Amino acid sequence: MKRTKCEECGGKIEKKSVEVEVFGVSLGKFPAEVCSKCDEEVFDEKRCGRV
Ligand SMILES: [Zn+2]
Repeated sequence: MKRTKCEECGGKIEKKSVEVEVFGVSLGKFPAEVCSKCDEEVFDEKRCGRV
């Protein structure tokens, strides 16, 4: 199921490439769904961001 609304605030979700950093080291860019309202980032794959 594709999300079109943010679970946190109900804002609009946009597809973006987000640079992921872990402990200050960049892991590169990953496709993510980012809320335009609260900047909540939801990654397509659950390996980073929210667990
Ligand atoms: Zn939101």
